[in-house]
Parts: sequence; structure tokens; C-alpha cells
Amino acid sequence: MSVKAEHGWLPEFLLVDGEIKRGTAFFADESGIITRFSQAPADLARAQRLKNRAVFPGLVNVHSHTFQRVIRGRTEWRNQGQLDTFWTWREKMYDAAKRLTPEQIYQTAKAAFMEMLLSGITTVGEFHYLHHQADGNRYSDPNLIGKLVIQAAREVGLRIVLLRTAYRRAGYGKAPNPGQTRFITPDAATFISDTEELSAWLKKFYSRGEAAVGIAPHSVRALTQDYLLEIANYARKHELCVHMHVSEQPAENEACLQEYGVSPVTWLARMGLLGPRFTAVHAIHISEAEAGSLADSGSSICACPTSERNLADGAVRVDWLLARGANLCLGSDSQIQIDLLEDARLLEYHLRMQRLERVVLDPPGPGRERLSQKLYQTASKSGAKSLRQNAGELTVGKPADFVGIDLDDLSVAGAGPETLMANVVFSLERTAIKDVYVGGRRVVTDRSHPLQESITAEFRGVQEQFWPGMKK
Ligand SMILES: [Zn+2]
Repeated sequence: MSVKAEHGWLPEFLLVDGEIKRGTAFFADESGIITRFSQAPADLARAQRLKNRAVFPGLVNVHSHTFQRVIRGRTEWRNQGQLDTFWTWREKMYDAAKRLTPEQIYQTAKAAFMEMLLSGITTVGEFHYLHHQADGNRYSDPNLIGKLVIQAAREVGLRIVLLRTAYRRAGYGKAPNPGQTRFITPDAATFISDTEELSAWLKKFYSRGEAAVGIAPHSVRALTQDYLLEIANYARKHELCVHMHVSEQPAENEACLQEYGVSPVTWLARMGLLGPRFTAVHAIHISEAEAGSLADSGSSICACPTSERNLADGAVRVDWLLARGANLCLGSDSQIQIDLLEDARLLEYHLRMQRLERVVLDPPGPGRERLSQKLYQTASKSGAKSLRQNAGELTVGKPADFVGIDLDDLSVAGAGPETLMANVVFSLERTAIKDVYVGGRRVVTDRSHPLQESITAEFRGVQEQFWPGMKK
């Protein structure tokens, strides 16, 4: 790569190797891959000056269901005074899942993905299970909706890993649930051939690393043992990441206990599912021993605290997990709020509330920014590891995916090199995310996305069509 094709940036502060640096420029080649860092005066002069900006790695949202964006704000009341739980929320979500057209799913995905970019997210793992028509019949292209979701990510400029979800049944000993017909692929062989079709399509049309595929057995509840093992073998053969909802609610544990005599993490460990390609999403209702087994296996754990608090799931035992060195990452899940830094700070805040103690997760070591660094890592580098993406940190050989933070934004104003990490992690508001770059290309400029007006108008249209009587 010739020096001519290089582009360089010189921000006020740069987060690199967990350290806030000043007077350091970084350069990327034509394909957007970081080639070098430099403090040489000639390089500093050549680089594009990002005045009054701190540059941090782009955030990685490991667990998203974009279509659930349509029910934001529509589940915050009780039905005729009845108890409201995760399971009653799920019925409302199923109602939306059943009625959305492919076009509406695509338009909703664009809106949610754009919101992610505006909040500093540069890579998403989309846990995708709306495969079929409302009556369960397949579309002539079995990946019709998955491809639309991938296309939505490309149009707004976000990297995506489509986690193709396998779903077989309502649960152990349970009658089929009509709310799940769109999700179900009846056998593992069909699921695998559908996945192969999508992989081939990606190879043909998305060859620059902007989209990838992973496997997502929905949950222990939603699959039989044979089905799960067959698709896990397929993932092993192709070195794909495997993401799975695990122990989000106590009822899942009870069903697993009934079927297999043990709780989900223990059963998954026995089945040989845990390991560096595996991510347990939620993993809230687990024992300390299970936290240890997840960590020791090299599995990732994806917490989704803003969604989990909204759905009354409980709080992840981050203290157990981090004490064992687990790779902890974050997801926006139900899209009730898209703010990965809020998710990051909640990991710590939940424990403060429970223990009446502060700075609970502060890891041992020198420096004052250990906790903030660790939390920022959960929202970036650790997420990239879970999705098996070469991203999540600013280092040579990785893409220039980064956010430009406005140092004059009131939420972080006055922070110096010593306190910037903590200001960003604990106090940053979305207004401070001024610019967002993916692969060296600027996709958000001055807090605005080039398609913002049209995508927002389109999404408002989806909401008006989808919820009759809304326009009154
Ligand atoms: Zn989920």
C-alpha cells in the first residue's frame, strides 16, 4: 500500500491499548484498515486534525432484535390490572412479530441500525429469527428477510453479523405456540442448507468483511438435543460463532431441569457446547459454579442490562463472571434503549445497589481508570471477540471503526486525560457522539446521518401503518 493511499487522523485524545494518548495520529489504508500510529511531526502535520475530539473505538452491539423496535413504548402498562412479566411482554412482542411485513422489517431495521450508529455502535450481532411467512410457510427465498436486514445494515453503513436463529418447538412437552410459526425451521438439515445459501450469498455480494453469518440456537427450550448438536457440529466445522439465549428467566431453568435434570449452563457444558466460539446471552439465573464454567471454557457472556431491567429479567452476576476472567460483552436486545455505555455502567451500578458499596468491579492493577477501561472494553473489544470480528479496538491490522467524542459536550466537558475514560463511561450522553467512522469512512457527521430524514420518515410511516388508530 503506497503512502499516498493512506488517510490519517489526529484527534485531541486517542484511546489506544487502553490508554488515553495525546499528540498521536493514526493512519488507515484505502480499505480502511489501520496501518500505523505516529507521533512524528511530519505525520502529525499530514493527518487530518480532529479538533476538540477524543477518538475511541466503535462500540460492538452483540445482541439485537431490530424488529422489536416497533413495540418500544407499547408495553409499559398492565392489561386490566393483571400481573405483567417477561412472558406477558413476550405475547405482545409475538403479536408484532407475526404481523410485520418483510418491507416493514427492513424499514424498522434501517431505523434501529441508524440509531445504533448515532450512539457510537459500529458493529451489530443481529439475532435473527423472523424467517418465514405469518402462517409458517417459507418464502421462495428462505433467507428473504435475513437478506433485507443485512441490506439495511449496509445501507446505513453498519457492520453486521447475522446470527441465523434455529427454532423448533415451544418448549419441552409444550403444544406448538401459534405466535412462533414464523421462527420455526422443522429440521436441522433444512436449517443448515438455508444457512449455506445465506453464506454463499454473502460471499458473492459482501466480500469486504462488512457482513458475516453466525449460528444462533434460540435456547435450550426451543430446540431438541439432536437438532442442537447437529447445528453445533456444523458451526464447529465452519468455525462460526454460536450465540444462544441462556437462563434469562427462572422458568427456562425449571423446564431444562425437567427435561435433562440439570440447569442450562451445566447441560450445555455436558453437551460440549461451551468454548471460545460460544456466547451465552443473558446468563442471569446461573450459579457461581456455572459462572466459573462459562469463564473457564472461554465462552463469552452477553449481558443486556437496559433490556433486562425493562423485561424484569434480573441482573447478571458480573462480579462472579469477571472474577473468573470471563469475556463479558453487551447487547441492546429489545431496543427499549440503544445505549451501550448505559449498559456498561449498569453492570457496575446493579452491584452498587445490591451491596451498598462503590467501585465494586474495580480490577486489581495500577492506574485509576481500570474500572472504566474494563467497562469500555465490554462495549467494544469483548463484543468483537464474541462475534469473531476483527474489530473493537484501534490497533494495526484492524479496521478504523471509531467515534469522535465532542470534548465540549456538557456531559463530558472539562475532562482531562486522567478522567476522560470515567467521564465517557459513566456520564457521556449521545449528544457527545459527533462523528462515527466505519472502516475509515465517515458515516455520521456532526451527529447526523445522511439518510436520517428519509429513514426516520419511513419508520414513522411503519408505525402509523402498523398501529391503526395511532394518528388521532
Ligand atoms: Zn434476545
